[in-house]
Amino acid sequence: MAKGQIRVESENIFPIIKKFLYSDHEIFLRELISNAVDATQKVKTLASKGEVKGELGELRIDIKLDKENKTITIADRGIGMTAEEVDKYLNQVAFSSAEEFLEKYKDANIIGHFGLGFYSGFMVSDRVDVITKSYKDEPATFWTCDGNPEFEIREAEKAERGTDIVLHINAESEEFLEEERIKNILNKFCRFLPVPIFFKDEQI
Ligand code: ADP
Ligand code: MG
Repeated sequence: MAKGQIRVESENIFPIIKKFLYSDHEIFLRELISNAVDATQKVKTLASKGEVKGELGELRIDIKLDKENKTITIADRGIGMTAEEVDKYLNQVAFSSAEEFLEKYKDANIIGHFGLGFYSGFMVSDRVDVITKSYKDEPATFWTCDGNPEFEIREAEKAERGTDIVLHINAESEEFLEEERIKNILNKFCRFLPVPIFFKDEQI
């Protein structure tokens, strides 16, 4: 009899994300809103130290649904990211090996655990776009990835500070293009957050 260990050597983390979180796809919204809240809280802290130039603007998070184009957008007015930060925070995680990924999450009981953060967006999307402008005086950045894992990054036009995450909802996830479904998730996970959340211009 031989004993061994199954080795996981896929190219990237996407197959794992899809596999392990299969039964719990709706958490993508909570993860992305939680990032938007974090980014907003950070800009408040920086502003209180006088480190943010110009207007803070109305600090709110907007969830937008575009049925025709099959997209859900999570838009915040938080700290945003520079091109360098997008590379650091989004690319490097996406292209770390499956092995590294499992190592990172092995103590977190990955099955049924909710710690996947930004990448949970890929559970329900064919493609994820990020348009972001940092509070630092730098050009905005556009990043897009279809989970291949190939990505594109380039300069973008965005006047206001903050981040838009645009999910291009995949064919299996069209339930999330239903207004009622989104409202339901928001009421379940997104009440009493420290930043006001709006869905179709109505506060949750
Ligand atoms: P975590 O939130 O646990 O750090 P995530 O995968 O959710 O992990 O996000 C990774 C990183 O990407 C965050 O720590 C943050 O630096 C950056 N990020 C994600 N979403 C946003 C956002 N909306 N605004 C600014 N930075 C963000
Ligand atoms: Mg997060």
